[in-house]
Amino acid sequence: MATIYHDDDADLALIQEQTIGVIGYGNQGRAQALNLKDSGLEVIIGVRSDDTEAQARQDGFEVHSIREAAERAQIVMMLIPDEVMPEVFTEEVLPGLAEGKALCFASGYTVAFRTVVPPDNVDVVMVAPRMIGAGVRQTYTEGAGFPSFVGVHQDTTGNALQTVLAIAKGIGSTRSGVLELSFAEEAHLDLFTEQGFGPAFGQVLLSSMQVLIDAGYPVEAVMMELILSGEFAYSMQKIVELGFFKQMELHSNTSQYGSLTRAVRFIEAGMSETISVTMKQVLEEIRSGTFVREWETEKQAGLPMFTQLKDLRELHPIAEWEKKTRKGFRMD
Ligand code: NDP
Repeated sequence: MATIYHDDDADLALIQEQTIGVIGYGNQGRAQALNLKDSGLEVIIGVRSDDTEAQARQDGFEVHSIREAAERAQIVMMLIPDEVMPEVFTEEVLPGLAEGKALCFASGYTVAFRTVVPPDNVDVVMVAPRMIGAGVRQTYTEGAGFPSFVGVHQDTTGNALQTVLAIAKGIGSTRSGVLELSFAEEAHLDLFTEQGFGPAFGQVLLSSMQVLIDAGYPVEAVMMELILSGEFAYSMQKIVELGFFKQMELHSNTSQYGSLTRAVRFIEAGMSETISVTMKQVLEEIRSGTFVREWETEKQAGLPMFTQLKDLRELHPIAEWEKKTRKGFRMD
């Protein structure tokens, strides 16, 4: 059974006397910094560019270079993109780290796959929000919360778990609950959602569109029916609120009967097994580090495969279908 912590399990006072250095002021950086400040904590920002610095100052923060923020802070929050983190960490953050400080990541990726290797005299913790930056801020200001995965990779002070729970409380996440995971587990789940679930779901959607359009239904009707009306997104939200089966009750009996009986056909046709085979392969490549090595090689080569696939993506007719539908319904 996973351990899930809530507000009562975390004590903000533990980090009240410490300076938190938020490195990066983008999606997560800005949202988390504002939430921590509004929770009464002392936050400074470390950024590289003048524009971002101006934005952070306008929001009321003391702003420094990344190196200086890492030197001044006792808790250093790494909120820059994972792909630039290794270089920035080695050149700008590492020199500012001293024994007993805490280094906090919003994703397990860099530490789990060792593209960042922290020194062994600091605490290394993770608060990985299951929420985009805008939602991190919005839910906080509304008094609600958002779930996160938290983890301790390295505990040199003996207080790492309490520190990470206090940070999670400061950003407003323990209001919903935070689940303890290793950095590797968080990274694997995140990558699997992107590489297993996402593409499989995308293929189902594209196949459905193609079957209906090939059968002669108007493109605009198909696009509206399947995705652009927002009905599907609404049902997904109801799954979150009510549960997978309970939300079915919101649909007609015809809908439920048709859906349940035809689901059996897809199972009998072996769809679950076919998908599972590829999904297991994808998961294994993530867990073994094969994917990360492939991605590192691709980046070093100047992204040839990535560029080619992005170009190919543009050739799919879905962009045209969407354009036509949006124009017809005056959605733009
Ligand atoms: P962003 O892309 O929004 O980060 C932008 C910030 O990083 C800016 O301040 C930018 O500086 C700075 N930055 C970018 N490149 C560099 C560089 N080479 N050197 C120094 N600073 C740089 O990142 P996210 O907020 O999306 O992600 C931050 C962390 O949060 C990641 O670990 C990610 O995995 C995790 N995360 C993100 C989620 C999300 O919703 N996006 C959800 C959950 C976790 P400048 O303004 O000067 O360009």
